[in-house]
Amino acid sequence: MSDLRDLYQEVIIDHGRHPRNFGVLENANHIKQGFNPLCGDKITLYIEEKNGVIENIMFNGCGCAISMASASLMTESLKNKKIAEADMLFSVFHQLITHSAMNENQQEILGKLTILKGVSEFPARVKCATLAWHTLNAALHNESGAVTTEESL
Ligand code: ZN
Repeated sequence: MSDLRDLYQEVIIDHGRHPRNFGVLENANHIKQGFNPLCGDKITLYIEEKNGVIENIMFNGCGCAISMASASLMTESLKNKKIAEADMLFSVFHQLITHSAMNENQQEILGKLTILKGVSEFPARVKCATLAWHTLNAALHNESGAVTTEESL
């Protein structure tokens, strides 16, 4: 079990240091900024959506390893997903991060994202891990203004 935990930590550190899909997406038709004032994490999310499908997604910003790793893993999980699928992933991910019990079906839906499960043991870091997802939600559903974790949680 502790080996598994080490492996999870390695993946988080790797994504935190070398985030995937990091940069500005030129063809984005949804752009949203998110901010977690408790930790100082800031991200800008760029989504290229066509006919309800996320064709491409990138982000940039700065913050702690958890916030960057979570955004990185999120972008990897969402490419070519429908908006409804992204909404469903968000709700299951939120459950992962705030409760410890998950059924097999939910774990399968999350795939690689289950790596962030350990965050649920650290309530102060939950907002770091969910920042990218709250930003995604606002971007896809055209909510106005910048996202802050202090309003949404
Ligand atoms: Zn953070």
